[in-house]
Amino acid sequence: MGIYEDNYLSKRPQELCHMCGRCCRVVTTSKSYEELKELEAKNDNGACEFLKIFVPYPSIEAARAVDSELVDNVISLLKEDGNYDPNKTSFYYCKYLLDNNLCSIYEERPELCRHCPCTPWAIVPPGCGFEGWLFLEREKVKEKIRKAKEELLELKLLKTRNTDENILKKISSVEHKIHSTIELYKKYGSYDW
Ligand code: SF4
Ligand code: SF4
Repeated sequence: MGIYEDNYLSKRPQELCHMCGRCCRVVTTSKSYEELKELEAKNDNGACEFLKIFVPYPSIEAARAVDSELVDNVISLLKEDGNYDPNKTSFYYCKYLLDNNLCSIYEERPELCRHCPCTPWAIVPPGCGFEGWLFLEREKVKEKIRKAKEELLELKLLKTRNTDENILKKISSVEHKIHSTIELYKKYGSYDW
């Protein structure tokens, strides 16, 4: 795992979880069940770990019967991103969740559970204890990227005022680093912030 994720996970306030069990009871992935099975057959670690604990609901309606708010929220987010396909989207429940919302294998739970919510952009159920904290974490990252973009503008200006090859080289190197940072968050929309 990268340094960002390590830092993020080490500062995540676990006490915010109020153990409602919703993120164990109704879960979806960006891949279809068939794609996950194919990856599992190829020993893909993530797919194997996921399918070891999660069981697919027989239909979206069956998942909706368990938690309609969560299912509808996920579907509307998928639709917003143009990623909703009723033939590909599956919902799952964990076979280790107890009726009292506790995890029956808590000490041995897989990494994917230990890392959840794994980034500030993780989709959590409505009302999840992490909602507010995740929002603040996203804002912090956005602020950092905006500052980086301001620095890029200043560097651009600096370049117009310098002719020294060495200085121009150094400026290009800093620009490159800043672009790499922005690129890191591309999948979360960093170029639009
Ligand atoms: S949905 Fe949020 S508050 Fe509920 S168990 Fe999961 S992480 Fe904790
Ligand atoms: S293994 Fe435990 S923590 Fe992980 S999804 Fe299942 S019940 Fe939740």
